[in-house]
Amino acid sequence: MFFEKIVAAPADPILGLTEEFKNDPRTDKINLGVGIYKTNEGVTPILKCVKKAEEIILKEETTKSYLPIVGTPEYGKLVRELVFGADSEVIASDRARTTQAPGGTGALRVGADFLKQQNVTGKIWISDPTWANHFQVFGKAGLETAKYRYYDKNTRALDFEGMKADLKNAKAGDAVLLHACCHNPSGMDPNAAQWEELAKLVAELKLLPFFDFAYQGFGNGIEEDAFGIRTFLKYNKEVLVASSFSKNFGLYNERIGALTVVSADKETADRVFSQVKIAVRANISNPPAHGAKIVTTVLSNPELRAEWVAEVAEMRDRIKNMRELFVSKLNSLGCAVDFSFINTQYGMFSFSGLSPEQVATLKKDYGIYMVGNGRISVAGITTSNIDALCKAIYEVLQ
Ligand code: PMP
Repeated sequence: MFFEKIVAAPADPILGLTEEFKNDPRTDKINLGVGIYKTNEGVTPILKCVKKAEEIILKEETTKSYLPIVGTPEYGKLVRELVFGADSEVIASDRARTTQAPGGTGALRVGADFLKQQNVTGKIWISDPTWANHFQVFGKAGLETAKYRYYDKNTRALDFEGMKADLKNAKAGDAVLLHACCHNPSGMDPNAAQWEELAKLVAELKLLPFFDFAYQGFGNGIEEDAFGIRTFLKYNKEVLVASSFSKNFGLYNERIGALTVVSADKETADRVFSQVKIAVRANISNPPAHGAKIVTTVLSNPELRAEWVAEVAEMRDRIKNMRELFVSKLNSLGCAVDFSFINTQYGMFSFSGLSPEQVATLKKDYGIYMVGNGRISVAGITTSNIDALCKAIYEVLQ
């Protein structure tokens, strides 16, 4: 028997929570677990610009033949413009190359494979805490991983001094994974001055920056959220960026993302890209078309693009409003804890500061689901469930 010795893997902690939520018979249950955007009505709709793009695609599509290994050049160009800005030096000097990838996860994996297969770096340093899958993606690609401090539980803020101290322990030639915006799970991002300092430090330490850009547009704005990456490019010639369009286009199940690699010059970029291609080929041979066609259609059509920008703003603003309402309701209930720090966080997630025991009580006694480390998906809060949620948190904190 070959399979007899296989030991069952533990359930994915976040997706497992969704299953538990589904099976909970309580009608007033609240799911603040998984990171999927929801409207105030609690649904995850298809964006209007996406529906319109799909109508165009349906009419105009003439073949289902394979795409190039790295996707179409048009898609790559649009992704680079979104990440670096259309008038960036990186684009003008033609030293960035983009491959389509199956979601942000696929982009991270292709990047990890490239780094490992070409022996580009030593360890990759990852924030503590981080999106749980990061360690798995880089570890399974064969890279050694290490953690740098990022979040201070006591001050409920970015542990910038700890972060810098730990990065100084990295060896020249290591890589560092950075969340470009909307850090998952803490919601804490460096401010402009801190990005500048980090960008210089990483260059000085001779580390290779690898950005995970899963939430462009969910922080301060589509352009604004690229600030960290663009600042790094002032001091670092070589950078990797894993983009995801799962959240900002709502294309979760289409699995659409991209890996962009910036090299020091055009000639190096071409050599690098030939190896990135091998990594893609070995993983998926060539990418699926539908998600990429949607993103390409929306971004290249001025009307659809304007509609997309407005729809992203609507998602971002709703989350921000919910944060503010959540904080003001909790504070006006006279909670033992001041929750104002939640207003300093960005993106879909917040660290609530609730303990694992409090999280367990919220689930058991109130049907409120959140990840054990106290992470809440703010997008799960609505004007209909916020009062019950705040009351439950107030009671649990007594
Ligand atoms: N990086 C981070 C930080 C994420 O939160 C996520 C999604 N939860 C991803 C990458 C993966 O995104 P995708 O679904 O596009 O693979």
